[in-house]
Amino acid sequence: MAAKGSGQEKLDRIMALIGTEMASDVCSCYVMRAGEVLELFATVGLNAAAVHRTRLRLGEGLVGDIAARARPLVLENAPAHPNFAYCPETGEDPFRAFCGVPILRSGRVRGVLVIQDAQRRKYGEEEIEILQNLAMVLAELISSGELLSLQEIAFAAGDGDLDFQRLAGVCVNRGVGLGQAILHRPQVVLREMVADSPRVEMRRLRVALQQMFGAIDDLTNAASRMGDLGEEPVEILESYRMFAKDRGWFMRMREAIRQGLTAEASVQKVMGDMRVRMSQISDPYIRERLYDVEDLSNRLIQHLSGRSGVTVIPDDGKDYVLVARSLGPAELLELSKSGLCGLVLQEGTRHSHVAIVARALGIPVVGQCAEALERIAPSDMLVVDGDDAQVFVRPSDEVILAYRRRLQMQTLREEGLRGLRDLPAVTRDGEKVSLLINVGLMVDLQNLPDIAPDGIGLFRTELPFMVKAAHPDLMAQTALYKDVLVRAAGLPVVFRTLDIGGDKQLPSFPVGHEENPALGWRALRIGLDRPMMLRTQLRALLMASAGQELRIMFPLVSEVAEYRSARHILDAEVARLRKSGASLPEKIMTGVMIEVPALLFQLDDLLPLCDFVSVGSNDLMQYLFAVDRGSPMVGARYDGLNPALLRALRLVVQAAERHHVSLSICGEMAGRPVEAMTLLGLGFRNLSCPPQSLLAVKAMLRSLEVDRISAYLGALLDADCGNLSDRLHAFARDHEVDIGVDC
Ligand code: PEP
Ligand code: MG
Repeated sequence: MAAKGSGQEKLDRIMALIGTEMASDVCSCYVMRAGEVLELFATVGLNAAAVHRTRLRLGEGLVGDIAARARPLVLENAPAHPNFAYCPETGEDPFRAFCGVPILRSGRVRGVLVIQDAQRRKYGEEEIEILQNLAMVLAELISSGELLSLQEIAFAAGDGDLDFQRLAGVCVNRGVGLGQAILHRPQVVLREMVADSPRVEMRRLRVALQQMFGAIDDLTNAASRMGDLGEEPVEILESYRMFAKDRGWFMRMREAIRQGLTAEASVQKVMGDMRVRMSQISDPYIRERLYDVEDLSNRLIQHLSGRSGVTVIPDDGKDYVLVARSLGPAELLELSKSGLCGLVLQEGTRHSHVAIVARALGIPVVGQCAEALERIAPSDMLVVDGDDAQVFVRPSDEVILAYRRRLQMQTLREEGLRGLRDLPAVTRDGEKVSLLINVGLMVDLQNLPDIAPDGIGLFRTELPFMVKAAHPDLMAQTALYKDVLVRAAGLPVVFRTLDIGGDKQLPSFPVGHEENPALGWRALRIGLDRPMMLRTQLRALLMASAGQELRIMFPLVSEVAEYRSARHILDAEVARLRKSGASLPEKIMTGVMIEVPALLFQLDDLLPLCDFVSVGSNDLMQYLFAVDRGSPMVGARYDGLNPALLRALRLVVQAAERHHVSLSICGEMAGRPVEAMTLLGLGFRNLSCPPQSLLAVKAMLRSLEVDRISAYLGALLDADCGNLSDRLHAFARDHEVDIGVDC
């Protein structure tokens, strides 16, 4: 970069260097020009005459696809890929293996760096990483203005007014939606701030509050009539209504009116005060409530001013995407009546109320899109990609086409998978596998008939608590667990006791700020320190399962003594109920989640005490690799195919066999086909995964010979090896194991 010469000369030299260092036949750099065109700017290996001639639009061909999705693409046989676009002038016919990465700067795509080889070559993680690092260098060169004018760079990168942009965020709800932008502008501009008569203003406030309660009641009734939404949206609205009726809120508004403000101004003042106070609170649950307060305040102002429905989604059969700073759950329910197919939020997190409602409605949501309202104009075309946590603003036709194709491919795959529902989960060589699902909300149980799982391998009991303002008492919990068992219709259900703390805060039991919440006062640790809470939950589970089998699992156990204490509390509850003459479950089984690495060294002491154990690989990986699973910077750094994790899992399988204890795995990896294949190879026979992944895992295992993967994996794990992702993907391809396509 520092060498003498023009930008083009530097780029040519960098291509030659990369080609040599990566030992690849071809190394090319495509630069994004204004008009969403990727131009071949330099190459070694392709025809020199193609430089500055070959141009691909965004979304066109493999290079366009990488730029459109801002993601690397690795292929062993590029011409066979459906997006391959043949450019005869480049002379690329002999080259099959392909590895391309986006050149990114400040989150925007500036170009694409590609290496190609004539021989079938499997590019690994390390090569991708090296290319990504080199792409950073190229991004600087492109942005320096030595290759393109600075004005063109600004336009090409999406800084120009009408150009394409990609906004990165976090996934609040998965899925993809395409539609026109509607900007959510809830604020009504207040014209009168000071009032003559506080009495008149108080009367206005009371009337508006009554109107608002009525509107929320109507919405709650409508949501409960829409039975297929599940119960959570109704519960959220009920807690919301409780807040609306909060005396403290009313008193503060009354005080502001007494000081001379109009009713509208008093609502706004109280909202502003709360925003200041609440934004200083680190507790994620309380911060989330700020959005509910803002939603309520805006509604109240609308009732006061007589200007309702500031945001309207036209009912014209078209698809729309709503863009908002934040959104309350009630408003999402209201707006979803029309053609809302996506949501972009400047704030918003996975555990927000709006996320839970979006999940019930099946609306994809990207959150934490910092500048969404500044960068998106009304009626802009948007692609909301919840799967990859990104939003495309004013995308080209090719990007739209690429996403429509992806939706089509997903639909086709889902239709194909639906046919597997009634087929047995048996591998090609006759091994029976038990396929279970992880659920946490009633809405998740809706899918049971469509996928026919063998049971519920993990019921996360904390999630229903998270939508309630008050801690559910014994009766409420008993009713909830009974309902789960009724809906499970005889399938086994593993209830996990409250796994709160960390990023899961209950409104009724805020744990407070901790420096390292994932390592803090969480899960069973709280249960043992506050035994009343655990005892109530255990009693409710025992009562709900009277006459049936009951399976209870304890989360975040770090030492055997903790499990013994939990069992002790359970035994005391059983004795208590027996004494009172209440009917008990027919059979009680208890188990432990293996999430803390310390347990790996206590398996021979722990397993004889358990009826079953289940590996919580999400947390096990977090603690094994010391990576915060929620951090976008490191969360995806280590995958489930890392030999360190696989060796740890092998220890668990061997111990479970030694002690004849039933073993399952319920982390997300059980739902990813290649990782699930690997788990079967390690000896797991019970996989518990998210409901939407179950049929894909079934397709995989029905095409797998488990003996072969076991032998292959055994050899790999005994050898000194790096990440096994490439080899295991290659195994799947070579043995025609159906791991789906990355569409
Ligand atoms: C896990 O840790 O793998 C797990 C299943 O539990 P959760 O994701 O709820 O922490
Ligand atoms: Mg966990």
